[in-house]
Amino acid sequence: LAPLLALDNLRVSFAIRSPILRRIKMQVDAVAGVDLAVAPGKTMGVVGESGCGKSTMARAIVGLERPTGGSIRFAGEAIEDADANARRRLARDIQMIFQDPFASLNPRKTVAQIIGEVWDVHPDLTPEHGREREIIRLMERVGLSPEMASRFPHQFSGGQRQRIGIARAIALRPRLIVCDEPVSALDVSVQAQTLNLLAELQQEFGLAYLFIAHDLSVVRHISDELAVMYLGRIVETGPVETIYQQPAHPYSIALLSAIPVPRPWAEERPPRIVLEGDVPTPLAPPSGCRFHTRCFMARDVCRSESPSLRPVAGRNVACHFAEEALTRSAPGADA
Ligand code: SF4
Ligand code: MG
Repeated sequence: LAPLLALDNLRVSFAIRSPILRRIKMQVDAVAGVDLAVAPGKTMGVVGESGCGKSTMARAIVGLERPTGGSIRFAGEAIEDADANARRRLARDIQMIFQDPFASLNPRKTVAQIIGEVWDVHPDLTPEHGREREIIRLMERVGLSPEMASRFPHQFSGGQRQRIGIARAIALRPRLIVCDEPVSALDVSVQAQTLNLLAELQQEFGLAYLFIAHDLSVVRHISDELAVMYLGRIVETGPVETIYQQPAHPYSIALLSAIPVPRPWAEERPPRIVLEGDVPTPLAPPSGCRFHTRCFMARDVCRSESPSLRPVAGRNVACHFAEEALTRSAPGADA
């Protein structure tokens, strides 16, 4: 199956002023060479701590950041080569849902106006039965009562606001929705409802999702494939269950070991690994393997040689010692 979205060695760098010497400009490689493919109708989960480049990558895909290297292809076409027509098509086909629905909704507009805006930009896509009826249909579809159409965002709960964001995102019948931590700000019970809604919409419309989260238990339920990011790079990627059952990158092992399980006595799992220290600044990423400053398996070679993604046990891993890491993450193993 040809991918719907394909990132090829994607790079996004910013020039920022040095925090110490303001007149010096420094380069931050927020996304430092990412390869990623999302299949039509499927979900690619992306996890990693804050600052690992997830949001910057998401913003580049929807055109809010300009890549500084590599390419983004959608349905086989490079986004950077798109002419005006292709850009309009992309603006329809790729939508985004944000972490904070409140910040992304205009507080002075009613829900009907917020959803209806999409047809100001794409009047040719206005449904034959008219905006009003379509707004009602969309609100019902996402579980909001149509009587709420004349209300303003502040009159809704966080979960309802996210539903408004979802209604707006699906209004143009996109093929891909980039979801940047869409449930991180919601209560656990509301998270589950929102994830169920996204799963239903995926079935109904054949949507693909790029689903970004820092919470691994959220990503598991919704994803087919998973990509684990660390400091601007993907360190492990493959089928979600393959990685959850037995992660092969030390960073994935640590992240997964920290997930609370509902019935710890019923599940055999390796002991918890607590990562020391914070994520290093992308202004000065560590040499060699970027994870070596926090890795419990690091050796000399890790400080000098940067590991590339390579196939190991049904997924791709960027670690010189992935085979050994895999034995450590086996169920019941002693780390
Ligand atoms: Fe750890 Fe070395 Fe593997 Fe990097 S390459 S994850 S430092 S063992
Ligand atoms: Mg973010």
